[in-house]
Amino acid sequence: KSYQSKPKAKRWNYIISNEAMVRKGNSLKEAAKFLATPGLISLGGGLPSSEYFPFEELSIKVPSIGHFSEADTNVSGVTLTAGKHDLAEGKSIFDIATAFNYGQGAGSAQLLRWMTEHTELVHNPPYEDWRCTMSIGSTSALDMALRMFTRSGDIILSEEYTFSAFVETARPMGVRVCGVPIDEQGLLPVGLDNILSTWDVSTRGARRPHLLYTVPTGQNPTGATQSAERRRALYAVCQKHDVYIIEDEPYYFLQMQPYTGPNAPDVPPPASHADFLQSLVPSYLSMDVDGRVMRLDSFSKVIAPGSRIGWVTASAEVVDKYSKHADVSTQNPAGMSQLILFKLLDEHWGHAGYLDWLIYIRMQYTKRRDVILQACNKYLPREVMSWKPPMAGMFHWMQIDFKKHPDYPQKSIEAIEESIFFRNIDHGTMCMRGSWFYANAEENHDTLFFRATYAASPEDKMDEAIRRLGESVREEFGLDK
Ligand code: PMP
Ligand code: PLP
Repeated sequence: KSYQSKPKAKRWNYIISNEAMVRKGNSLKEAAKFLATPGLISLGGGLPSSEYFPFEELSIKVPSIGHFSEADTNVSGVTLTAGKHDLAEGKSIFDIATAFNYGQGAGSAQLLRWMTEHTELVHNPPYEDWRCTMSIGSTSALDMALRMFTRSGDIILSEEYTFSAFVETARPMGVRVCGVPIDEQGLLPVGLDNILSTWDVSTRGARRPHLLYTVPTGQNPTGATQSAERRRALYAVCQKHDVYIIEDEPYYFLQMQPYTGPNAPDVPPPASHADFLQSLVPSYLSMDVDGRVMRLDSFSKVIAPGSRIGWVTASAEVVDKYSKHADVSTQNPAGMSQLILFKLLDEHWGHAGYLDWLIYIRMQYTKRRDVILQACNKYLPREVMSWKPPMAGMFHWMQIDFKKHPDYPQKSIEAIEESIFFRNIDHGTMCMRGSWFYANAEENHDTLFFRATYAASPEDKMDEAIRRLGESVREEFGLDK
């Protein structure tokens, strides 16, 4: 196909850690390739015989395409069944005997093929040697990526408010995070360029950062989504300074319909799969001519977090290092989980049905987002609170003007934030404190935010929770009810 015309990825051996460079993988797993030899009787791998797997059949009831709600699934849901020896019996290309046994760190060929096709369909990476490999979710993928790309003493760049588990994973490795200034679209290219251009090893106490961790879509916690132009500008800055990008995108498919305001008519859903794909902000992976992006996808936010399955897309060099690490640590994602996802995604929905599901999810989150915004308009004191409608993800990020607090500056930003947090609990609601997401808690911060999610609670409860938040903030600031 068009593959011939695509360039090869850059090599990254000069930023890959010693640990990852010397890791040989799992020699016993490597021997698995000989199992394909015709007539071979294996006395090799210590794979338990599936005779002793106490599972004969697995049935799951799932939505049929186009009838995705819980209520519809009750009525028109389809039961999918996996047998123990479906493969030998020619009923399926994946079965209990295979899925429940040991596999490769990259995951089963069956499900990995689906992921690779999906990635090509959605992102079509513009270089030749891209590959996918399974992860057991993006939390683990991040941990493994940090071990591949950093050494103790390094500093990584990220949004100045960032996913706290990322900071908490990096710190014990001796790796700190430097916050890059953001606006309502997230990372600022000029801010990123400034930091990199003026990096002073002696005052910073670390080599110039070679890694950017970013959540480009519906960022956690700010809810910000980088536009296509913003992404292109940031990619160019990373090229200029030779920075490798970790694109963590659990919320990519929670891009919602445009927000039209409190009483405007809804925007109709995408009319076709092509329309839907067209409506999505292009990923870094889709513009990655250098192979400088490791993209993390996860089923957590679009299928179920308990699946503990995601996948990594990067150049063959990087994917090889990742899967060799998986071979000696996480191994493949749980076979039980892989089999369930394979039945649903490959044999039942297929790529087209999955896109229909994603459109359904998009419309659901749009509704929830609109409910929380309506509640905010109704109950929150505009004198001291402001927000931007999120375009993607599950987070609503609300700014509080602490300078209007009667006791400021005697009462610090953090003290005001803490009072509001506990007033919320007293009133029977909870929002996350912005300071919990500082990329670097030692840097100075002169903003105060709270993060609310519209993903979790039913619509009427969400309305009540925001009403309570409004009460807490009014109390704290001594405003009229
Ligand atoms: N430890 C030993 C001594 C083993 O023999 C094996 C399996 N070959 C393992 C650990 C791996 O166990 P698990 O499948 O639970 O990762
Ligand atoms: N990355 C970000 C930015 C997240 O917000 C989350 C979920 O909270 C994760 C990763 C975790 O994803 P997973 O469930 O795939 O480990």
